[in-house]
Parts: sequence; structure tokens; C-alpha cells
Amino acid sequence: MATYTLPELPYDYSALAPVISGEIIELHHDKHHAAYVKGANDTLEQLEEARSKDQWGSVNGLEKNLAFHLSGHILHSIYWQNMSGDGGGEPLDKDGVGELAEAITESFGSFDRFKAQLSKASATTQGSGWGVLAFEPLSGRLIVEQVYDHQGNVGQGSIPILVFDAWEHAFYLQYRNQKVDFIEAMWKVVNWQDVAARYAAAKERATGLLLVP
Ligand code: FE
Repeated sequence: MATYTLPELPYDYSALAPVISGEIIELHHDKHHAAYVKGANDTLEQLEEARSKDQWGSVNGLEKNLAFHLSGHILHSIYWQNMSGDGGGEPLDKDGVGELAEAITESFGSFDRFKAQLSKASATTQGSGWGVLAFEPLSGRLIVEQVYDHQGNVGQGSIPILVFDAWEHAFYLQYRNQKVDFIEAMWKVVNWQDVAARYAAAKERATGLLLVP
């Protein structure tokens, strides 16, 4: 049985239009995300085979593949939940997300400065990558990370709670080369309730996890 499975979208393909077209969401979920799920499962199988035969020459490449595909699967799984056709606005305007709004202000100075930092981090990815808002459990702060591909340039242990896919497959059919416009539009579909739930869970379960006793 496969270890990882493709999660169903929490909405119809066209639910995020006009910010993201149904065609993009269908391809992105059914083809791109599905490929990462398959890649992660295939790599686990290949590692099992390598272990069973005591053949270690492929381990270096397989570990790289595992990090890439598994991270792609995890980030996309969060990405779909982070968006909603009823999303957008600022967290302070929404019900039940006060704690997240406070944490953003504490960690970044203001919502506007946080928004500018995450927008810039997303839009200035070189090649393929993501802009990520993450809970950092050692400090208990929120930080923005600019992720290379799906797995690089990450502070170990940080937990992604809001992710902007800045790969060309996320926007090119609709926005062509205008990545900045796509990232700006993304703010109109952010599901702050989902981000707040992720923040609360990360804070409750992970704070102090990495502290050396
Ligand atoms: Fe993607």
C-alpha cells in the first residue's frame, strides 16, 4: 500500500477564479501534486529495495529525491487548504483568528510589513520555489522563509502555516510572466481561518520541542 496519497481538493476546480483559473487548479492538483505523491512513494520503495539488497550506491540520489517529492507533497497539501473562494482581507477582520493576527504583529511589526515581506520573498524566488510563513518552535516566533524548489533554504524544525507556490506551473497559464501580479492576487484567496488553526496547532504542540534540556 502506498504511504502517501493525493488529498482531495476542499473545493471545485473553479472555486478560486478569477484569482486562479480552474484550468490551473486542475492541472496543478491532478498532475503536478499527484506526481510528487507518486515520486515520494516510488522513492520509499526504491530505498526499501536498496536496503534489502545492501546496495548503497543509489542512496545519495534517492535521499535527494525523497526530500524533493515529500516536501512537494506536504507544501501542496497545505497550499490547497490555505486558500478559499471566501478568503482574503486581513486576519484582524476575520472571526477566530485574533491570536494569529497578534503573532504576526509581534513577529513582523505590522500586518502590512509581514505582507510585504512574504510577497517579496515569494516574488523574488529565482527559478522554482515558495514563499512560506512558518512557526519557528525554538523562538516561538513566526518567520518568513524563501524556499528553493520544495525543500531548500529552510530552517530545520520550522512548521509552514501559509504557503505561496511561486513555481511557474502555479500561474503561467493565466499570468504569463507576471509573477508579481499573481502573488499580489494570492492575498485575495488566503483562508485565514485555516492559517490560524495551523498556527494554534503548531504553537501548542511544537513550542519548546527543540530546546535542549
Ligand atoms: Fe506547485
